[in-house]
Amino acid sequence: MDVNFKILGSSSAGNSSLLQVKGSKILIDAGLSARKLQSLLSEQGTSAEELDAVFLTHEHADHSAGIRGLSKFQQLPVFANQDTVQAVQSKLPRRPNWKIFETGKSFEFKEFMIHPFSVPHDAYDPVGFYFQWGKDDLFEPHGSLAWVTDLGFVPTLVRERIRKAKILVVESNYCPRMLEADIKRPWSLKQRIRSRHGHLSNQSTFDLLNSYTSPCWQKIFIMHLSKDCNDVDIVRNQFKELNGQGNRFQTFVIDPTTAEPHLV
Ligand SMILES: [Zn+2]
Ligand SMILES: [Zn+2]
Repeated sequence: MDVNFKILGSSSAGNSSLLQVKGSKILIDAGLSARKLQSLLSEQGTSAEELDAVFLTHEHADHSAGIRGLSKFQQLPVFANQDTVQAVQSKLPRRPNWKIFETGKSFEFKEFMIHPFSVPHDAYDPVGFYFQWGKDDLFEPHGSLAWVTDLGFVPTLVRERIRKAKILVVESNYCPRMLEADIKRPWSLKQRIRSRHGHLSNQSTFDLLNSYTSPCWQKIFIMHLSKDCNDVDIVRNQFKELNGQGNRFQTFVIDPTTAEPHLV
């Protein structure tokens, strides 16, 4: 089946990606301005007018900033849970075409079956997504993508959710040594990032990926790297160890400045 997945933005510059399956085009998170998203979409040969929906994980600006501008497309469905809708709407002049889902409850939209699941992070009701599409036959084999960013640790439920994904998108936010040495962030913010409701460190993400035996992954995208407190080459070096253990997947690290994927 025709599947096109492109990360448009990653990390503090704003997180967003375009998933296209058959004729359906969706954005997962919209953390860049609508103007910027429009130009990135046009580089992909499409536009906001052609989007079928947007799915939001949580209200933080690096995931939702584009909703303000995208809300002028009054037909465009924006999927989020109630708490996220309230938090985002409180800062908007217009009401987007909200579609409210319940965390933990699966639903269908066009080609997709969507499973939103809870993640531990300092937002009102943050979620990760597991998208599935296709039938399980030779002509249309199942496809799936798990999107897991912004979490302080990985609960068992999340581990189970990502086990079967063919495409896995996961954060690796900071290098503990670089975070420790950083002079821009006050101690309290560093503590928040490191907490169980903050973000995953390189080591935590590596340990997570390294702990599965024969996972289904074909491609892994490591994203949401901190610009100041992480480094693409450090992550690439560390994650090289995932190769050569009978693992068949390819791992890409997303540059937080350019959103370009670098093969590990
Ligand atoms: Zn967040
Ligand atoms: Zn974030």
